[in-house]
Parts: sequence; C-alpha cells; structure tokens
Amino acid sequence: MPSENPDLAIAQAAALRPIAEIAARAGIPEEALIPHGHHIAKVDRSRVTPSGGTGKLVLVSAMSPTPAGEGKSTTTVGLADALSLAGRRTMVALREPALGPVMGVKGGATGGGHAQVVPMENINLHFTGDFHAIQIANNTLAALVDNHLHQGNELGIDPRRVQWRRVVDVNDRALRHVVVGLGGPTQGVPREDGFDIVVASEIMAILCLATDVADLERRIARIVVGFRYDRSPVTAGDLGVAGAITLLLKDALLPNLVQTLGGTPALVHGGPFANIAHGCNSLAATRLALDLSEVVVTEAGFGSDLGAEKFLDIKARLGGLHPDAAVLVATVRALKMHGGVAKDDLAAEDVDAALRGTANLRRHVENLRRFGLEPVIALNRFPTDTEAEIDAVLDWARGQGCRAALSEVWASGGEGGRALAEEVLAVLEEGSDYRPLYDPADGVEASIRTIATEVYGAGEVLLTDRAPAQLRMLRRHGWDTLPVCMAKTQYSFSEDPTALGAPDGHTLHVRDLVPRIGAGFVVALTGAVMTMPGLPKEPAALRMGVEADGTARGLF
Ligand code: ADP
Repeated sequence: MPSENPDLAIAQAAALRPIAEIAARAGIPEEALIPHGHHIAKVDRSRVTPSGGTGKLVLVSAMSPTPAGEGKSTTTVGLADALSLAGRRTMVALREPALGPVMGVKGGATGGGHAQVVPMENINLHFTGDFHAIQIANNTLAALVDNHLHQGNELGIDPRRVQWRRVVDVNDRALRHVVVGLGGPTQGVPREDGFDIVVASEIMAILCLATDVADLERRIARIVVGFRYDRSPVTAGDLGVAGAITLLLKDALLPNLVQTLGGTPALVHGGPFANIAHGCNSLAATRLALDLSEVVVTEAGFGSDLGAEKFLDIKARLGGLHPDAAVLVATVRALKMHGGVAKDDLAAEDVDAALRGTANLRRHVENLRRFGLEPVIALNRFPTDTEAEIDAVLDWARGQGCRAALSEVWASGGEGGRALAEEVLAVLEEGSDYRPLYDPADGVEASIRTIATEVYGAGEVLLTDRAPAQLRMLRRHGWDTLPVCMAKTQYSFSEDPTALGAPDGHTLHVRDLVPRIGAGFVVALTGAVMTMPGLPKEPAALRMGVEADGTARGLF
C-alpha cells in the first residue's frame, strides 16, 4: 500500500507558485517574508498589518482512527481549497510532521492525493528546522541541569528528582530508560534519565501556546526541571537559562508559510502529538491566519476524544479562540473496523459492519455537541468504498440530524470538496455556542473525571502508581487548578486500544500526573501510553531512498 501510495508522485508533479505570490494572496507583505528557498517562508508577524482577526475558525477532527489515519489533514487541505473555489479568502493552519511517524507506520502529515500542502518532501523531512531547534533547546536545558549537578549543585537539586528528560525526533524505544553520568567523577553525576519524542517535549507545547517572544521566555522560565531535597521545585528561571533557551527558539517561533495544491496559503507550524501532548498547531499561526482570512481551516490530532478535546479545553481557552464550526472525518474502513471487521478484511464490502461502527462516530458527534459545536460529518471516500456503504453511512448520519457530505478531495482536490464546503458554510452562518467542557478551578482530579466520564464514557477513574502522590504535590504547589492534557491511546475511547466502538462504563487508570508549568497544564498519563513510541516490525523507512538527482523515493 504505502509503496503504491500516489501522494509523493502527485506532489512532485505539481507546479508550485513562488512563495511571494502565495503570501500576496494571503495579504502578507513581502517585507514580512523570510524565504527558505522558493516555496517556503517564515513569516515575521510584526510586519503584518493585523486586520482585526475576524476570520471564522473551522476545526477538523475525526472518529477513532485506524493505524493509517482517516484523512484529517487531507480533508483540512481539501476543504480549504474548496472554500477558496467558493470565493472565500481561506487559509489552512496545520501541524508540522514529526519524523517518528514518517519513518514508522503512519507516514507524513501533509495530507494526501490531490489535497496536500507542498513541497511535501521538504515539509515532511527537515522543513525549516523548527523541530531541530526544539530538540536542541530541550537538550540544552537537560545539559545545563546535569552541568549544574556536576558543578557543585548550588540549588540543591535532588538528582533522583530531575524531571526534565531529553528528546529526539525518532521513534527509538531503546532510549526510553537510560542512565547518564557514568564513567567516574569527571563525567557528571550518575542518574536515571530517559528520552521522549520531540513532539512530547514541553518546549513544543510552549512554542505552540506562546503569544510572542516575551511570553515564550516567561513560559520557559516557569519550566519545572526538578525538585530539591526539600521537595521544592527548581525552574529553568532558577538556573538562569531562560534567555538562552528562548534565543535558540527565536526563529522557530515564526510561522511557516507554504501552499496547498490548489494554491491556498497554508501556515504549517508546531506539532505536538495528540495522544501524548496537546495535539494542535501553534496559536501564533492560527491567530495570524484568523487575522488574514475569512475562513481558517485547522486540524487537531486523532479523534475528538484527544485532539479536539484539547483544542477546545486548552488551546482555545488559553488563546481566546472561538471555534465557529467543526468537521468530523469518518471513513467506511474505520467504521467497519469499529463494527468488528479484521484489519486485513477492511477492503471487502460490508454495509452491516459499517453501520455497527457508527456507534463510535455517534459518540464523537455527541462529544463535539458537548462543546457547543454542531459537527459536519465528512465521509472521506476511499477507492475501495462501495456505493451501498457510502449511501448507508450518509443516510445514517442524516437520520441522526447531522449535516453530512461525501468528501472526494483525495481524488479531486478542492472540486471534490464542494458539497462539504457548502455544509460548512451553512454552519458558519448559524454560528456556534462554543464553551469548554470543565472549569480548571475545580481541580485536576475533577477535570479528569469530567473528561473521562463525559468524553470517554468511563465509569470510574482510578489514580494508580505515582498519581496519588503527584496529586498531593500539585496541590502543595498550587498547580492543581491548571487545565489537564490527557495522554491516552488514540484507538479507543478507553485506555485499552483493542476496545473498539463506543465502550461504556470502563475504568480509566491515571498512573502519573506531570506538571508542565511552562505550557500551563498538567499531563495525565493513562493506561500504557508512552511518550517515546517504538518503530513497527516493517517501518516505512524500509521503502525509502533518494535518486541520484536528489529526488525522494518512498515518502507518503
Ligand atoms: P490523518 O490526518 O487523519 O492522520 P492523513 O490526511 O494524513 O490522515 O491521511 C493518511 C493517509 O491516508 C495519507 O497517506 C493519505 O494519502 C491517505 N488517504 C487519506 N484519504 C484518502 C482517500 N480518500 N483515499 C485514499 N487514501 C487516502
């Protein structure tokens, strides 16, 4: 499948417009552009004249996905191109791809078919270096902590209670647990450490939530790197290094401008995962897009239980955003999987299984309604779908009182998204009644319970392992009223990735609560979800290569 995936061939055949022309289309003056080659530029927001931020915000989410992804990025890009065709001044705001999934199983994050952001090779590989900058900033802070321990430890940090981990943008399970500082007195202080993937770094979250350089530095100063022997927290500010870390990130903070295959301007910036982090592109990019356009189409990772919940409870709340409409991407193959069909049999027609799988989709519809959003279901058409399956799902959706449209943007680009665009424009006319789900002032435990029972359908929440002690620690330091960033598997509403459909009454085990004070939330780790993924038995990397002329092979 991925080896026959046409995404790369379509992207490579596209005739791209110069980035200055795309910028002009978006109302970004040339003096605000910092070009990275011909088709990519960073945007200096201070040189863009704000228009008052009147754009309407459309959030694209999805049902619980199969491991291949159900086409949120594809739908986001295709819908934006369809809105452009309908005469609306539109921009896309997407996350940057992480190399872990590019080399692993899921592939890149530039959309697919005729609904992609381009140049896809550059965006999926090193792009403008933002992830590298985040990696280095994170690891510089780690080195400064270890150096502080080595140089006399004036702040009295307990080496067993350092909580700042190192990161790398590779799915590398061998680095989950390591010991650093081995080799004797001149090699540092031995202690247990570990690596996370870059997209789980607090620096990534901070970059995505910071409003400007000053806010970035304030947030970095608040990062808790560890605790003293008396259990009081030590921050990056206490170490005196917030300025240096901010300096390493000053260019990464600038949004990246590219284009869709349909020529719609797209800001691709920041990229926390939605299962282990907050899952949305940068606030800076979303705000810039809202400032410049009539409609902004953005995406939040995985299903509505993860990315959308965090978009609506964390990003929109902290950033003062008002989402005006939501799109829920569904596919016949994911519906059949939730209806009990084995992964290898998903291509065969099975109308009954698809209808059984609507239990999963229905819960996602109900979830978005809890936030005051009336979702439009986008049935993302795959080549293997049959007319009978498509008709059955669309009839079901309309029978539920949902707006629904067949989306053919993968096959036909913006033209294939006209019906979806019409439904979205109708919702935008009506407006939304957006409200976050919980009040952080009720405390972390209450917030987790609300998310678990209302969004996940859980019966109860149990705090296990380190979580009870961590909760006491959060209360002691006054961090108990921050929003919660849930870390949970994307495959199920529950913590059990094999519990498909719409499981009810299950128990959610929260095993750790990690304060991310710079980001402004507490991460709640549930079930077996890990902040450093591993590679699969047959990683996508096995099919990749490069031609003599530098052309990429095997990306998807
Ligand atoms: P998500 O954002 O939900 O993870 P993507 O938009 O990245 O999903 O799509 C995942 C993969 O599925 C991409 O390789 C894309 O080309 C492919 N894909 C998406 N929609 C379709 C479709 N309608 N038909 C065939 N392949 C598709």
